[in-house]
Order: sequence, then C-alpha cells, then structure tokens
Amino acid sequence: MKKDNDNLTAVVSGKAIKLHYFEPSQRKIWTVVGKENEHWLDPELGFCSCEDYFFNTLNGGDECYHLKSVRIAKEQNKVEVIRFSDDEFVNFVSALISDF
Ligand SMILES: [Zn+2]
Repeated sequence: MKKDNDNLTAVVSGKAIKLHYFEPSQRKIWTVVGKENEHWLDPELGFCSCEDYFFNTLNGGDECYHLKSVRIAKEQNKVEVIRFSDDEFVNFVSALISDF
C-alpha cells in the first residue's frame, strides 16, 4: 500500500497529469504519463486504458492509480491543461490509439 501512495504523490506532483481540452466542442481527454507509458482515461466514466483497470477495476476491485491520481490532481489543482482545436481531435486520438 505504501508503494502505491508514493506512486500517487510522484505522479501528482510531477505534472504527469494532463487534460487535453478541445475547442470549441469542449471534448476532454485526460492522460497520465507513467514510468514506461502513457495511459488515457475518462474520469467521468471511471475509465482507464491501463492493465490494472482491465484486470482489477473491471472485476470489482479498486480504482487504478491513474484514476486516483486524476482525482487528487483536480483537488490540488495540479492538472496541466493543454488546449487544442477540434481540427486536431482525430489526429490526436489516432496517435493515442496507435501508441497502445
Ligand atoms: Zn489506470
């Protein structure tokens, strides 16, 4: 459990949490940059793209630490917001998907 909390603190304080905000549609894509890879998530749906989410959260387990860290980052105002125009949305999403 301790390790998990260290991870959370490192992620939240390391500016690893990014909100990609598309205008004018106001679509939002959240990403959390981990040690080895970047995951995207939707905190409103409680969705994350990581393995922990698929193997634990979906099976009734705890939220993965990405979802937890987004919630903490929102509370502490540690989110890095990057603004995009809607024209860039399709490219952005296909780049994300091809990464995983
Ligand atoms: Zn996750």
